[in-house]
Order: sequence, then structure tokens, then C-alpha cells
Amino acid sequence: MEKFIVNETNCALEPIHSPGKIQSHGFLVGIDKQLLIHFFSENIGLFLPNIPENLLGKSIATLDGLLGDHFRLPVLEQLLAIGTHNGFEQINPYQVEINKKPFYLIISLSSSYYLLEFEPVQSDMNVDLNKILGRSIAEMLGDKNLNNLLNGAVTQIRKITGFDRIMIYRFAADHHGEVVAEARKDGLASWLGLHYPATDIPAQARELYMINLTRLITNVHTEPSELRTSTEHKNYQLDLTHAQLRAVSPIHIEYLKNMKVETSFSISLIYKDQLWGLIACHHYSPRYIDYKSRESAKLFSQILSSALEFRQEEENQQMVKYYRENVDVLARQLLEPDLNVIDALTRGQVNLMQVTACSGAVLFYENNVKVLGITPTIPELRELVAWLKETVDNRFYHTNNLKSEYPNASSFQKIACGLMVCTLSKELNEYILWFKPEYIQTINWAGNQEKEKTIDEHGVLHLSPRKSFEIWSETIKGKSMEWNKEEINAVKRLKEEIVYTINLHANQIRLLNEKLQKAYQELDTFSYTISHDLKTPLSTIKGFTQILKKDKNLSPHAENVIYRILAGTDKMTSMIKEVLEYSRINQGELSKVNVNVKALVEELIKDLRVAYQTDKLEVIIGEAPNIKGDPLMISQVFSNLLSNAIKYSSGNENPCIRIDGAVMEQDVVYSIADNGIGIHNQELPKVFDLFKRMENVKNIEGTGIGLAIVKRIMEKHDGKIWVESTLGIGSTFYTAFKN
Ligand code: ADP
Repeated sequence: MEKFIVNETNCALEPIHSPGKIQSHGFLVGIDKQLLIHFFSENIGLFLPNIPENLLGKSIATLDGLLGDHFRLPVLEQLLAIGTHNGFEQINPYQVEINKKPFYLIISLSSSYYLLEFEPVQSDMNVDLNKILGRSIAEMLGDKNLNNLLNGAVTQIRKITGFDRIMIYRFAADHHGEVVAEARKDGLASWLGLHYPATDIPAQARELYMINLTRLITNVHTEPSELRTSTEHKNYQLDLTHAQLRAVSPIHIEYLKNMKVETSFSISLIYKDQLWGLIACHHYSPRYIDYKSRESAKLFSQILSSALEFRQEEENQQMVKYYRENVDVLARQLLEPDLNVIDALTRGQVNLMQVTACSGAVLFYENNVKVLGITPTIPELRELVAWLKETVDNRFYHTNNLKSEYPNASSFQKIACGLMVCTLSKELNEYILWFKPEYIQTINWAGNQEKEKTIDEHGVLHLSPRKSFEIWSETIKGKSMEWNKEEINAVKRLKEEIVYTINLHANQIRLLNEKLQKAYQELDTFSYTISHDLKTPLSTIKGFTQILKKDKNLSPHAENVIYRILAGTDKMTSMIKEVLEYSRINQGELSKVNVNVKALVEELIKDLRVAYQTDKLEVIIGEAPNIKGDPLMISQVFSNLLSNAIKYSSGNENPCIRIDGAVMEQDVVYSIADNGIGIHNQELPKVFDLFKRMENVKNIEGTGIGLAIVKRIMEKHDGKIWVESTLGIGSTFYTAFKN
């Protein structure tokens, strides 16, 4: 047997807008455009005893005269013409006389038929609604608070209508209803605060309440009157949506009977084009309200609806203002120069928690997690974010029942049933989360709805109207309070502000970068020019010093001074040469070719052996794959690294250097290892800085430029360089060139 899902649409099977019957306190005639009768209610004879037996197919003129002096064919034709043109509300009701009693004729359209409904003028209301309406409305609107407004409304409506009980019934988002205001006759039990399941007023009934703002069920105990039609129309369901007399669904009649209600009159309350609720008027004995009074009540409801809109908006406005001001403060904090994004959102005078009514908030930003208030633990949060990343596509996601979508949330249900998410960057795992705790709610239902569901032998679910309306309490767990529109809007605005700030920061960094690059270029040009210009005076110094040196009469002291001047100029010349090399790297484009590293290294070693006069040096060349790059620059890289390896291992009894290359997936990596003096761990980070020399090389010649040149060349090639070293044992330098 297939399981039948219980929902409000079960009642939708009943054709409530075309029941084929009307309430029998009036009668109905349905005519076509040629004014021929196609439908009539079988109770017509009770109102018009002299009516011919078979009306079907006859002209409406048959009724002419039977309906008093005012009902004449030309008048009806005129009414139909105006109604069709301007809307039937313009002509309704038209008063006629039937058997000397006043009746209202109410005309409406049902596809291609005109429905003529006749109902008594006599109302059970002994007051003229129109007269007292103005004062009642003024009294009702006197209070600013929404609750007081609703209470005022029920009191006034009861005063005017004399009904035993007036309730304002408000629909929740899931369409179940709650009695939010009530005025009742002494001795009746209060229904205030009771909840009614959505199935009590199914979707199609709610639709009808949107079309017809008032609905009268005059007497639940009278039998409805069937509509008669010709055999050719036998299967035609005449749509009575706009008919005043439309018969009531038997289920609803039984429902009212079970509540002991004999007359029910409801007035729709519309808020922003939605059915916000109903004013439900119940009477425990039959009570009739005529069309004009119903229309007055409609006016009352329209005014209440707009007041409602106004009050609700005003209440929302306060919330909107509170959140807006907080987002404004956060936006200012975000722009403060000495606050970074994280601090601005979590440590200022206002923080993330004040843009929603939450109990905790978390910011995931730039690999940091910042927690405010009460939230799940960090590992739980990380798991949650991983789930969000995987499953949630919305940039703004919210739920008040997290564990229904994310079962792991059961472990922190108490503190976080409600979750609101604002995605800053899915790629970077940057999110803001807000949490609401579990809100355990006790709902007092008017009767236990579960008991009223039965499943027949075909597996079809039947909803029978409740027989008992005894209060039945239900506790709702696992949900938080709802996230409202104002909170969602505040979060959306906050995101705009954050994105704006992040972009602003990014732009500032870009500008700084550009400036820095320009400064670098200027510095390069400057150092290039200055070193270049230094070369001439330096060679002059050297030239004249060499002339001086040739003097045979020099004292040993002067000879020593001249020797030192010459050594100084030599050192300066090599420094200038290197600085020039360093500045030259960034000028001009790379011309990449395949470089034969094996040949290059062998050539370099040959020269370096001579330069450093190291006969004991052992050189091992392992694999030596080719590299793509600028041949001159690559030669500079190997020359610098090899000369350092030789220079800083020359103190070793058995100096040994080893060169190895390997082709990896994306790079060609070379290592140049020596067994020299090594580099102190703490000094390693500075080893590639310009002019930096380590503590342990004081007695070894050098300028501190070589590795800076190597690093620059590697960067220019989009490659990498790094070093591993142990003091006193040796160093290995690695270079990775793009394959
Ligand atoms: P320098 O002209 O001083 O060799 P470099 O820029 O080539 O300048 O090297 C910077 C410093 O790094 C050196 O002064 C030295 O302290 C350290 N260094 C470079 N290579 C080695 C190595 N193979 N072994 C030990 N120290 C090294």
C-alpha cells in the first residue's frame, strides 16, 4: 500500500467553488448572453410560487413582473450592460420586490453566464453599519500597537455585528492559523492563542477568501438547494466562485457543527496581496447579514488591512533602522585605516552579532576563524563549512531547522538550530555564519488533528473534521526562531559593504604595487647609472696609483698604503661590475633557449679551478638535463652558485662539490651541494638579500651581491631558489626552472 502523505492539498479534491448547490436563504438563476435561462436553484418556487414549472431554455422575461415593479427586462439589460462594462460591483445590489418583500439582486459573471442571485434585504443586525462605521474605525485605529489594533478591531466588530464570538485568525508561513485577538459573549470559553492546522482552511478555500473578501454561512442546519440545468449541461460544473450564495463544503459544515457554530461570517484581511488572516465571526444561533452590511464589513476589513500594513511596516521599520544603523557602523569600521577586515567586523564598537538577532556568529576570513557569542566548536564549524561548500549554492542561505538538512547538526542542536550564511568567497573558504539557538515551542492546538486522519482500504487518506476541539498541546523541538526579512536584508547589505572594502584594499595594494615597481625601476636605473659613472673616476684612481707605485724612492709605509689603495679599487671595481649585472637583469626581455647545462658547468668549473687555485677540489656531476632560459643569465646563476660552493668549502681538507639535475613534472631542479662552512639556521632567511654576508665569512672575500643576482634571475624566469644548510657541515642550493 502506497503511503499517503498528509498535506493540506488532500481537501483540494473537493470542488468547493462549483458545488452545484446554493445556500437556501436566497435563490439563483443563471442566464446566457441571450438572456435564456440555463440554471436555476430548485428552491425558486418557495420564493416565487407562481413560477412556471420548467424554466430551462426560457427567456428571463418569464420572471418579468414576478419580481415586483422594479424588475423589468429593459432594466436588467441596462444593469448587465453597465456591469459588463464597468464591473458588477458598480450595480450591485439592485433592490427588487418579491411577494412584497424587499430582495437584493446581485449579479456576477461565471464564464459565459450571468448569475442572478436574489437574497433577502432584511438583516439580523439592528444597526445601520454605515452610520456607526466611521466612529468604530476611528476608535479602532486609535492605538499604535499592532496587538491593541487587533483587539480594538474585534471589540468594535462585535459591537457592530452582535455576533457571539469575533476572532482574528492569523496565518503563519506554513498556513496554519492562530487566534491572535478575540472578543466573545460572556460565558464562552476563550480560543485566544489556539492554533488551527493548515488543513482546516485548505489552499483552495484560501484562494476563494482572496477573491471574495466576505463569506457568509447563514445557517449550518438548513439544507442547501440544488441547481437545476438541462440534460445537455448535466456534466457542466457551474463555477460559483463569485456567487454570494455558493453552498458550503459539507466537510466545513460538519466542522462548524462540531464546534456548535450555527452561523459563520468571515472577512479576509489582506496584507501585501497575501491572505494575512481572517476576521471570523461565529454565532451560536442562526444569524443573517444582508449584502449591504456585508459590503460595509468589507470596507471595515479593507481599512483594517491597510492599517495592518502600516502598523506592521512601522514595527518592521524599527528593526530595519536598528540593523541599518549597525551595518552603517560596521561599514565605517571597515573603512578605518588602522582596522583590518577581521577586527572591523569583530572587535569594534559594533560587531557581526548586531546585524541579526543571533546568539553567535563566526567569520572565516583569510585562513582565520573568529568566533563571537555561542557557536559550535571550531572542528564542528570547519565540518559545517565543508558541507556548505559542497552542498549550498546560494550566496545567502538560511534555515531554522539545520539538522533537517545537515544531520551532523544534531550534536549542537541546542545552540544552533538556526543558521544564516553569507558566502564571501567559496574558493577561499570565506564565510560569515550566524546562529540562532533551539526555540522550544508549545503550541496549543484546537483539537488533536492526528486523530482525525483515517486511511481507507484503498490507502486514501481522509480528513474528517474534528469532533473535539479540546485543547491539545504539542511541543516543537529542533527549530530556532525564523530569520526574518529584515535580518536577511541586513546581511545582504553587510556583504556589499565588505566586498566594497575588500575591493578598495585590493585596489590600494595594486596601486602600491605599481608605485613600488616604478620605484624599483628608478632605483635600478639609478644604481646602474651611478655604478657606470663610478667606473671612470675609479680607473683614474687606479691609473694614477699605479704611476705612483713605479716611484723607486717610496718609503715602505707609502708602498703599503699604495698597495691597499690598489686592493680597495679592485674590490670596488668588482662590486660595481656586480651591481651593474644586478640592475641589468630587469632591463630588457628574456630570450629563452635550450641551455646545455652539462657543458656549461664543465666549462665554469675549469675556469673556477684556476681562479680559486684548488687542486684538491673534487667535483661530481650527476644527471645534468638541459634547461630552458636566457643562456647568459643561466651561466650567471651557475657561476655564482659554483663559485660560492668552491669559495666557502676551500677551508676543508677534502673539498667536494656535487651538481645534480632532475626533470620533475613541471620543473627542472638542480642542486649544488658542498661540504663547506655552512650557514647558521637563523641567518638562512637573509641569505638572498642584497649586500648580506653571514657572520662566519668575515675572512673570506665577497660582496654579498651574487645570491641576490641569482634570486633575481630565477624570479625573472618564474623559477624558484632555496637553500638547505648545516653550520660546519655544508650547504645545498636548489634551483627550479620551469620545464
Ligand atoms: P658573497 O660575495 O659574499 O659570496 P653572495 O651573495 O654570493 O655574496 O652570498 C651571500 C652570503 O651567503 C655569503 O657572504 C655567505 O655568507 C653565504 N653563502 C653563500 N653561499 C654559501 C655557501 N655555499 N656556503 C656557505 N655560505 C654561503
